[in-house]
Amino acid sequence: MAELTPMMQQYHDLKNKYQDAMLFFRLGDFYEMFGDDAKKAAKILDIALTARNKGGGEKIPMAGVPYHSAASYIEKLIKSGIKVAICEQLEDPSDSSGIVERDVIRVVTPGTVIENEILSENENNYLAAAFKFGDYYGFSYTDISTGEFYLTEFSAADKNKLKDEINRISPREILLDEKTAGSKVIKELHNQYNFTLNILKDKKFDRLYQGLLDHFKLKSLEGFGCEEMRAAVYAAGQVLSYLAETQKRTVNQITALKAYHLEDYMVLDSASRRNLELTSTIRDNQRSGSLLSIVDQTVTSMGGREIKKWINQPLIQKENIVKRHTALAEIIDNYMTLEKLRDELTEIYDLERIMSKITYHSANARDMIALRNSLAKLPAVKELLTEFESDLLLEMQQDFDLLEDIHSLIDNSIKEEPPTTITEGGIIKKGYDSKLDELRNLVSSGKDWISALQKEEREKTGINTLKVGFNKVFGYYLEVTNSHTDKVPERYERKQTLSNSERYIIPELKEKESEVLGAEEKMNDLEYKLFVEIREEIAAEVERINKTAAIIAKIDVLLSFSYLAIENNYNRPEINDGTEIKIKDGRHPVVEKMFAEQFVPNDCYLNQSDQRFIIITGPNMSGKSTYMRQVALIVLMAQIGSYVPAEEAVIGLTDRIFTRVGASDDLTTGQSTFMVEMNEVANIVNNSTDKSLIILDEVGRGTSTYDGVSIAWSVSEYLNNPERIGARTLFATHYHELTRLEDEYQGIKNYNVLVKEDSDGVHFLHRIVEGRANDSYGIEVARLAGLPEEIIISAQKILERLEKNNKMPVRKLERTVTDDKHQQLPLFNPEKSPILKKLDEQDILEMTPMDAMNFLYNLKKDL
Ligand code: ADP
Repeated sequence: MAELTPMMQQYHDLKNKYQDAMLFFRLGDFYEMFGDDAKKAAKILDIALTARNKGGGEKIPMAGVPYHSAASYIEKLIKSGIKVAICEQLEDPSDSSGIVERDVIRVVTPGTVIENEILSENENNYLAAAFKFGDYYGFSYTDISTGEFYLTEFSAADKNKLKDEINRISPREILLDEKTAGSKVIKELHNQYNFTLNILKDKKFDRLYQGLLDHFKLKSLEGFGCEEMRAAVYAAGQVLSYLAETQKRTVNQITALKAYHLEDYMVLDSASRRNLELTSTIRDNQRSGSLLSIVDQTVTSMGGREIKKWINQPLIQKENIVKRHTALAEIIDNYMTLEKLRDELTEIYDLERIMSKITYHSANARDMIALRNSLAKLPAVKELLTEFESDLLLEMQQDFDLLEDIHSLIDNSIKEEPPTTITEGGIIKKGYDSKLDELRNLVSSGKDWISALQKEEREKTGINTLKVGFNKVFGYYLEVTNSHTDKVPERYERKQTLSNSERYIIPELKEKESEVLGAEEKMNDLEYKLFVEIREEIAAEVERINKTAAIIAKIDVLLSFSYLAIENNYNRPEINDGTEIKIKDGRHPVVEKMFAEQFVPNDCYLNQSDQRFIIITGPNMSGKSTYMRQVALIVLMAQIGSYVPAEEAVIGLTDRIFTRVGASDDLTTGQSTFMVEMNEVANIVNNSTDKSLIILDEVGRGTSTYDGVSIAWSVSEYLNNPERIGARTLFATHYHELTRLEDEYQGIKNYNVLVKEDSDGVHFLHRIVEGRANDSYGIEVARLAGLPEEIIISAQKILERLEKNNKMPVRKLERTVTDDKHQQLPLFNPEKSPILKKLDEQDILEMTPMDAMNFLYNLKKDL
């Protein structure tokens, strides 16, 4: 290999250290990329690919982006999931005789972004870590743009939990150990979502633990309640150590660790989150059309992020839920205050993200003004809050820090409309620093002197058009038009000749000039220094500010829920520890928006004694799915602390909501529809309890009818059986055979969707009533959908024929085996064919050969 030039050698040494990142190598006014990085960058960023001599006459591909517009290129790379290592020149090239010293000052990665341009306001940007540690998974995640840092742990035996957590927070980047990275769960998730994967080396627990202690300046993690959670601590330690490696500074915006336990929240597995369209729709993965899009009426970015967390983590402790409802009741009763509070909050900027920029030394004076303006709203917010006295709102008032010291620090120091650059002055207010004021006086008196000079020189020379001017090349000068140059005195030194004037300097002017310019430079330096000091002073208060930010976020969510309840006519649900679900005139919060008045409300009643398991039959498109989802959403909304779209609702606390809806081939994992369906059913059967709510929309459709009905039947038995599970279940099905379950088991009830038939055909009334549906209206739906009449008529004939020789008689079941869950029930007992019957009746041993021949002949005729 040819010998590299010294600079290329430097490049290679650095690139070796940051192999998984694209290295932005600073060369003067550009960041250059070389080799494969250059090729990749040229493609993604649509920039020119050139070549550079790397030594010994060999060339290496090169591509570059200008330093001043690098941000937009970095943004593009990050959005494509690429990490960017930013390498700067650490000394001024003019000061260095040999090669300029360079090093990487930060690795920007998708999960460690703090730049507003890359982040979306209402979304967290999480970096997560999942490490197997003993028998547990340690799971931790942070958003360094807001300073949140969470950790938990759970049994490694249940891989679904890892999947569910990753799904819940949808991180942009994940840190994993090698084994976890190779697991099926991660592979599947990685196929579905866009996140950057980092496989990290095993590190010593003690070192990671110590890293956390050092960061928080603590002797133990007891105060955060996670001292004993070793797996969780391990994962959190990996997060922090990764941040140190990439950010190359302490991430001071992270001031606390929040330990949480999965058992404290309602379990929502990945499929249910998706099926219920909590934060995005199934069809196009859009926010619009999701529950979040309806419920989110927040007015701050902090509230926007918070409400998403509430939706994703419904509560299961009655007390905490009721606290939220009570707060809403009070706010709703005080509509005026609600409005006023919302108005105040609207003016509050994203405190958490401003604080991140401040602790990162990247905030400018305008960010400070935004912070001050936001803090200025706090007294009014607190004052309005005092009108409330429910527990939750009282707690908020108590913890509410007005941050007046920070407000006045900025108010006293930073000018009203500062520039975006922080090195060119114009930032600090008069009266804040006496040294600065002195310099300012010097500059302005110097400038006064200079402008007075014009008058003075005019008088002395008699040139009344003489002017004092300034330009960057010559500094201050005296300008005389050509018609007066004859009057110019000796002491004037000519500097520049223009077409109709001459420019001169005089020693007094030059002296003053250097005084003024020197003072101006000092002033800018001092302003910068003062600004940085103020920024540091505020950075030191990040914990206090973020605490208030968190309260603002919560208030915003409560106001949003209240506003929503008033606007949409929601009511307060009653929450109790029982197992009933009683909903009167419930509506689907999203679907009702599309139908306004025409949406048909429905009741729902589920209890543990005689109506645990509801089978819903009815034609396609009659509203079965909508109904079942609405019940699930009402329960979920109640447990996140919201009011619900129903006249009345009593919700017995629900520990999990499971849904198994629709059937779609999961192409990404190569699993068949049926396999996916059975996986979901297995998950439900294995994890539900008598406090769960289960929504089943067609089970067993992915296989043959016999198989399908059998599986659906036995799953229903199992779920309904209080000795097995006894979960509250809604099950919509096309298998009319299943309506017989009602006759067999206590707790199972049939419901159907009302359909009106008249001369115009069939009308769906969308009303759910007791009893089983009589008919399948599939053909009617086909007609409504516009299939040609010829096909409809033919379908009707086929249906009649099929019905005549019904191929699938379901035997009235007699349970012979009730206890052994592994035993397959003989569900179907196909009627014997006449031929078999005849065979059965004949005693072969009594027949002559001739009789046998005749018998065979007749049998063959019957075939
Ligand atoms: P199914 O599950 O029975 O096939 P869906 O629940 O998907 O039916 O509902 C089909 C359509 O019927 C919905 O898209 C909606 O347009 C309408 N619909 C459902 N429920 C109602 C209702 N309660 N009131 C008014 N329209 C409804």
